[in-house]
Amino acid sequence: MADGRQLFYFDETDHPGRVLHDPRELPTVLPASMVRYDALLGEWVGIAGHRQTRTYHPPANACPLCPSSDANASEIPSPTYDVVVFENRFPSFAGGEGTATVGDPAAWIGQSRPGSGRCEVVCFTSEHHTVLSRLPVRRMRTVIEAWTDRTAALSAEPGVEQVFCFENRGVEIGVTLAHPHGQIYGYPFVTPKTAAALRSAADYRQRTGRDLFADILAAEIDAEVRVVAQNDTWIAFVPFAARWPVEVHLYPRRPVRDLTGLDEAERDDLAALYLEVVRRMEGVFADSLPAITGVHQAPVHARDGDYRLHLEVFTIRRSEGRIKYLAGSESAMGAFVNDIAPESAAQRLRDVVLETAGEGVL
Ligand SMILES: [Zn+2]
Repeated sequence: MADGRQLFYFDETDHPGRVLHDPRELPTVLPASMVRYDALLGEWVGIAGHRQTRTYHPPANACPLCPSSDANASEIPSPTYDVVVFENRFPSFAGGEGTATVGDPAAWIGQSRPGSGRCEVVCFTSEHHTVLSRLPVRRMRTVIEAWTDRTAALSAEPGVEQVFCFENRGVEIGVTLAHPHGQIYGYPFVTPKTAAALRSAADYRQRTGRDLFADILAAEIDAEVRVVAQNDTWIAFVPFAARWPVEVHLYPRRPVRDLTGLDEAERDDLAALYLEVVRRMEGVFADSLPAITGVHQAPVHARDGDYRLHLEVFTIRRSEGRIKYLAGSESAMGAFVNDIAPESAAQRLRDVVLETAGEGVL
């Protein structure tokens, strides 16, 4: 790209006409991120003041994620693309000056590190007016290929401790670009949620000698009541203690630490099951689906068996026209109160009748 950032095309067919020259005059944005240690909660917090100037709700004809045209020189120089990944111009984390380790408690207070790592944008389609869940399984499979490729690449970058592929969807979530896209963060630390899960799994193994992830999965399969959909290699269920009105977790049946460990059949099955889950979620409310998808992967330096790959999809919608906001209990205390029983959410998801017409919809 014009300012030296990298861009990667993930093509489903041969595209000899890919434009590799970015003609724009683009001033370089100097990332000035840092991470600071919250000694009380034992968590790292990113501070990224340079992001306040990032692109905010541009009109569709000036979309930076559409393919370039004569009228709009966008982030993608080609006139078309399938899936494309590029470095975020306004990254929360960038550079390889080292990862953030906690170290000696005597140095906990006032501890900060460079905001190392890497942030990338994943465009799911060149079409501006659509959503990922309306795209064919083939496209979802290409997105998974892109996530997997970038997970391997970012895991090898200095300064990256954990790779997180995610999608924020809907203005209610705070999305500032309408074009269907997701992001990939390479964090310079193990994120708080993953750190908590690693502690729980280690504690469980020490006390019972058993694998917490395997036992949770077995319990959900056994209970059946929260299972939403499944295929040969994956299962999707509403977790026993779901926090969000409609929340679904997708687990591979085989223990795998991250996307790079999936075989071809498992990637194919994930593409199909993921789209089915999101389409079921869209059918629960006669309204838009502001949602977040997160791909939970083992930290780069975790040992095999410490953590298991899974995906989480949830919506902040709790009924038609109503949003679940994170208010006092959730925001200030981290204590969630869910308005819909997980078993009831699972039933509603199973009851959704999916369209089967249309090319490649299911
Ligand atoms: Zn666009």
